[in-house]
Amino acid sequence: MPSFVITDKCDGCQGQDKTACMYICPHDLMALKKVVDKDTNEVKMKGVNQEPVQCWECYSCVKICPTQAIEIRCYADFAPLGGSVFPMPGSDSIMWTIKFRNGEIKRFKFPTRTVNPGEVDIFAGEGEAQADISRVKEQGFFTHQSKERALPVPA
Ligand code: SF4
Ligand code: SF4
Repeated sequence: MPSFVITDKCDGCQGQDKTACMYICPHDLMALKKVVDKDTNEVKMKGVNQEPVQCWECYSCVKICPTQAIEIRCYADFAPLGGSVFPMPGSDSIMWTIKFRNGEIKRFKFPTRTVNPGEVDIFAGEGEAQADISRVKEQGFFTHQSKERALPVPA
């Protein structure tokens, strides 16, 4: 089921040409559309999921929206009608808020990193690659065979 924008919360990313939700969507589904305020007749730009049937519910737009204006209509077996699932990313963890249809709310917090930002050593323990990264385009380099490990053989 697709994401949707709560227009009252969306500020159009404050007039930027490319909004956070447009930038992050892996399926290029988010767009900016003109919306006319029915009380004031003021024209405002709002984010919109322009092709909901193509949305694969990855939650990327929900997580990045700076105003928490995007939610997902969850599948009924996951969050029955009236329920919702909302992520709130932090610098080192993410908090998921689950609202059940009877109004009960539960929150779950999970760590999202094990080292400080900028301190990841992606070649740690991969000595050859670290020593000679210029070979990275060679066929077979940085694979099981190149490191003298056998590939699993199907039974
Ligand atoms: S990221 Fe959020 S605030 Fe920005 S345009 Fe999209 S829905 Fe609106
Ligand atoms: S949930 Fe994922 S696929 Fe759907 S609109 Fe948001 S970013 Fe795109």
